[in-house]
Amino acid sequence: MAVPPVIVAIDGPSGTGKSSTSRAVAARLGLDYLDTGAQYRAMTWWMLNNGIDVRDRAAVAAASVKPSIVSGTDPLAPTITVDGTDVSGPIRSPEVTAAVSAVSAVPEVRARITELQRSIAAGAAAGVGIVVEGRDIGTTVLPAADAKIFLTASPEARAARRSAELAGQGGVAGADVSATREALARRDAADAGRQASPMAKADDATEVDTTELTLEQVIERVISLVEQRRRRES
Ligand code: C5P
Repeated sequence: MAVPPVIVAIDGPSGTGKSSTSRAVAARLGLDYLDTGAQYRAMTWWMLNNGIDVRDRAAVAAASVKPSIVSGTDPLAPTITVDGTDVSGPIRSPEVTAAVSAVSAVPEVRARITELQRSIAAGAAAGVGIVVEGRDIGTTVLPAADAKIFLTASPEARAARRSAELAGQGGVAGADVSATREALARRDAADAGRQASPMAKADDATEVDTTELTLEQVIERVISLVEQRRRRES
């Protein structure tokens, strides 16, 4: 018997293992995968590249209809393009990381990207199903998701992981854990404090604290939560 499609929402701040977990869960369960942070980063990359002042909310709102952002949803090789250009590398630059919270706080940006996310999820729901990772997937984008997980970790663990990741990318900032911790705290405060769809745990999401867990343990925990939901619904 064919397994019915499942929609999985994985939210939480960065440094919690969200991306690695989401990709691995999708790959192991044979689901599509969508990195919604990459979409906000792509929008931000386009703004910076086109000389838009990201602190000017009206200018960002007006320009947000222009770029065409396309996400590839293979968990083994996710892609993101803006107007046909592969931006998977440039969207991870320190400039984009520093500007993305301002851009993602603009309601017009969120409306446009939320629409894209829902249409990708609807396509996947008609096929194999999907793991969608972000900040507001369980609360706003896909409130009817079959399984909702909110990942957390201590500020120390998150800063250490993020620094190791940056060092792995050859970034100088990777060495400085305390600067990374401050930058993460600033981005979290902006993402959780904004008016439009702030980062939040949905009431019906299961919180998983990854501080003391290995990546493999987090993946197994999430897969077992998804399987439980599937059994309950079948
Ligand atoms: O996950 P990542 O760190 O790549 O996300 C980059 C930024 O995109 C976040 O700091 C947040 O400002 C924004 N974002 C969002 N809503 C989402 C996913 C990401 O506002 N669902």
